[in-house]
Amino acid sequence: MRTVDLLIVGAGPAGLSAAQYAARSALSVLVVEMASVGGEMLNIDRLENYPGRGGDSGETLAGAMRAQAEEAGAEFVAGRVQSLAENGAGGFTLGFDDYRETAASAGQIQAGAVIIAAGAGRKRLGVPGEAELFGCGVSYCATCDGPFFKNKKIFVVGGGDAACDEARLLSRISPNVHLVHRRGVFRAQKAVAARVLDNPAVRVRFDTALTGIKGDQKVEAVLLEDLKSGKASEERADAVFIFVGIVPRSELAASAALKPCPVLDAAGFIVTDQCMATAATGIFAAGDVRSSPFRQVVTAAGDGAIAAHSAAKYLEDRGR
Ligand SMILES: Cc1cc2nc3c(=O)[nH]c(=O)nc-3n(C[C@H](O)[C@H](O)[C@H](O)COP(=O)(O)OP(=O)(O)OC[C@H]3O[C@@H](n4cnc5c(N)ncnc54)[C@H](O)[C@@H]3O)c2cc1C
Repeated sequence: MRTVDLLIVGAGPAGLSAAQYAARSALSVLVVEMASVGGEMLNIDRLENYPGRGGDSGETLAGAMRAQAEEAGAEFVAGRVQSLAENGAGGFTLGFDDYRETAASAGQIQAGAVIIAAGAGRKRLGVPGEAELFGCGVSYCATCDGPFFKNKKIFVVGGGDAACDEARLLSRISPNVHLVHRRGVFRAQKAVAARVLDNPAVRVRFDTALTGIKGDQKVEAVLLEDLKSGKASEERADAVFIFVGIVPRSELAASAALKPCPVLDAAGFIVTDQCMATAATGIFAAGDVRSSPFRQVVTAAGDGAIAAHSAAKYLEDRGR
């Protein structure tokens, strides 16, 4: 079975940054990514707040980060890490599916240390019609599905950075975007919110809840509730894009056969110390999957660098 010094789960900005820093510390580094290298960054049309990169797409930055990590010696493979256990020799055994690395045997690999940089997925709104019409007008990604709704009536749900950013992106596709938010103010950063508040193609509807999605085979209408008056209404709609928060992809940490196991906070994010170490010795976490007050590309990249530094020190202390 193949052995590496460090295995990184996930190739979003946290995993990419960790890969580069760890490879530069002369560790053998394998990054396993189950979807696309770049993670959530690939959904960012214009990354305006990453230091020094005003306006590049997330995809451009992801490509540059991967090239830099590979140049330093990190390897990337496609696969989903499904299990994590102690190997009895001070390291870990990780199990994969769809693992196409030729040198691997039986979908397993040994690693001296592990960084979990698995990010977070989209929270569901939980209203009738959402699950049934997913892929038929209900979406969680404007970059992916927006072009199908050119000049259509689009509803966006949420009040944070992602909702405002995606509403702005959709306003380039249609002049008929309705941004529905339960509260009277946005949670989004001021500059991000300003881009929808000042946008004639986006009608912002504060104090409003989207309570249902209707349609036969495709989205045809939404149910709305004015939270101030309590008045319910139904409106024609062609698409609903939902951005109401994130859910950590921390199942691997939760299900790991380790003693002790990584600790999760009440919302399921992995708790680390300032060195990105989890409660499980040799297991580190970085980026959106980690319990943290702020989740951005820059914080994920910073976490990744710290996690790589800590993993290198951990391995060095153990005589690697
Ligand atoms: C629409 C939108 C707009 C945003 N806009 C901005 C912005 O303008 N500026 C900004 O700084 N941030 C923005 N963000 C936030 C930013 O994208 C995230 O904070 C950042 O991508 C988190 O990085 P990460 O590496 O922790 O996780 P992710 O980017 O989520 O990457 C994690 C990766 O791990 C992989 N993975 C998960 N589990 C496994 C497994 N078991 N095995 C293998 N691979 C696995 C996933 O496939 C994924 O590719 C935005 C996010 C969204 C959704």
